[in-house]
Amino acid sequence: MHTTRFAPSPNGRLHLGHAFAALTAARAADGGRFLLRIEDLDPSRARPEFIAGIEEDLAWLGLGWEKPVLRQSTRFEAYGSAVAALAAERLLYPCFCTRKDIAAEIAGASVAPRAEDAAIYPGICRGLSVAERDRRIALGHSHVTRLDCAKAAARLAALSFTELGEGPKGERGAVAVDPALLGDIVIARKDTPVAYHLAVVLDDAFQGVTLVTRGKDLFPATHVQRLLQALLALPAPLYAHHSLILDAEGRKYSKRDRAVTLQSLRNRGVGGGEIRRRLGFAG
Ligand code: GLU
Repeated sequence: MHTTRFAPSPNGRLHLGHAFAALTAARAADGGRFLLRIEDLDPSRARPEFIAGIEEDLAWLGLGWEKPVLRQSTRFEAYGSAVAALAAERLLYPCFCTRKDIAAEIAGASVAPRAEDAAIYPGICRGLSVAERDRRIALGHSHVTRLDCAKAAARLAALSFTELGEGPKGERGAVAVDPALLGDIVIARKDTPVAYHLAVVLDDAFQGVTLVTRGKDLFPATHVQRLLQALLALPAPLYAHHSLILDAEGRKYSKRDRAVTLQSLRNRGVGGGEIRRRLGFAG
């Protein structure tokens, strides 16, 4: 028996890919606890009607979950304390780069960034002196806060996480953490005092999640998330990454695919049970 969670960002209606993820997480709880977490860190994108829609769609699928539902927007104090703890360890640095600066640096670099589908931050601001950082902050230059992942990894013994599903290259079992896989990730943003990776690990620990089930597209994120857990002395859940539901062209469903939102399927007279069966969750 496990505590699992489905953690959607409420910036659109749920589609078939989300339904598969939610049903997978609920099934993996195996009679244990199934939680819903609303990842509404970005107030400009998270809309109340999407939050209501998530609950409506999951209930229609026949799922039940524990109440109250945790919303990330209520947790800024906890996130702030964790950011302060990492800062006190001197593991963070301000980054003043614009997207354009980063793209230009990558284009001019002789070594290609390593992540398959995302540009790795090339570390432009990592080496700024404390005086220069302070000067720019005093001048009001806007910045994000990044994790110095090499420095962080140097503080820790080699790490691994346990994969019960499968990574994109068939990784399973004890997976050795590559702390630099995603580079110096953003820990806190300009508009919100925290970003995705840190919020997720804090919330998984806070909610007592023992098994994280989610799509394979988030497998690479697990490396740095395991690093953050170790830095903050949080327990490490098990992971089970699942395959993604793809459209006829072999692409991941996205917010664009209005025809496969659960709302539009329901409006066309499709039943929740039918969707469960279609996605391989009979009964
Ligand atoms: N909220 C994230 C998303 O919608 C998923 C969080 C997670 O499972 O790590 O992509």
